[in-house]
Amino acid sequence: MTSASRLQAGTLYIVATPIGNLSDLTERAKQVLASVDVIACEDTRHTQKLLQHLGIRKPLLSVHEHNERERTEQVIHHLRQGQTMALVSDAGTPLISDPGFPLVQALRAAGLTVSPVPGVSAIITALSAAGLPTDRFTFEGFLPHKTGSKREKLEAQAQEARTLVYYEAKHRILETLQLMADVFGPERPACVARELTKTFETFYPGTLPEIIEQISADQDQQKGEFVVMIAGNPEPATASEVDMEKLFRLLLVELPPKKAAAVIADLTGENKKALYQKALEIQGKA
Ligand code: SAM
Repeated sequence: MTSASRLQAGTLYIVATPIGNLSDLTERAKQVLASVDVIACEDTRHTQKLLQHLGIRKPLLSVHEHNERERTEQVIHHLRQGQTMALVSDAGTPLISDPGFPLVQALRAAGLTVSPVPGVSAIITALSAAGLPTDRFTFEGFLPHKTGSKREKLEAQAQEARTLVYYEAKHRILETLQLMADVFGPERPACVARELTKTFETFYPGTLPEIIEQISADQDQQKGEFVVMIAGNPEPATASEVDMEKLFRLLLVELPPKKAAAVIADLTGENKKALYQKALEIQGKA
């Protein structure tokens, strides 16, 4: 182990692991995993396979969504005794749509040392080769599973000017892309990345309808892991336009479109007929 990577007692190392290609594990990640006292991981069987590949044997401690809070106590105890620990997830960088946030938050609050050992994450890997603007982007993780909540979330993001990045599972990819096409429109440049760093790595650049056509044409294209990226809205609506739509939606719960348009015309002084058309449009979208 080099002096730059000598481990510090009482530290939790957040170690990124590959998202497909095992050669993407960094030299420092290997050294840290080989040197810590205990490795906390999402799924012990999964991590055991990676460690076997590296020829490393270590005590493992499972830390996942359902036991993270109790395990935090144990980790704090180990670290206060001066042990060194690593946290890994099944793939990529821990805490990025993976367990670890409550643990790291608690360790920071307890004044313990947390140190990153950086590596791969599907977000950055996908963006780096997608051909969409990367100067500003927003990572939205997984969307809600239910269609209604998913649509609501997408509608709230339709005015976003930054590139939008999502993770999606294979059994929901087509439904999600269709919903995105409905909400963001047929022109928005997008790119879907599938099976990054693996044998069947594929990028689908184009508009959402073009991407849907390519992915639905062949069942094999619907297999594996996906990152969906959508260019930001080049002409985001002004705050007053957004507020108007919000106001309409609220009023349309209680009032017929004509009445809602009349109330808003009174409030804003805008043309009643045009507002009535807008009310019908919004009602049609609901
Ligand atoms: N912590 C990971 C990271 O840093 O990217 C993400 C874990 S999250 C539970 C898993 C999701 O990440 C997948 O459903 C997929 O959306 C995305 N993902 C992970 N590996 C991928 C790959 N090789 N190709 C495309 N997407 C991938």
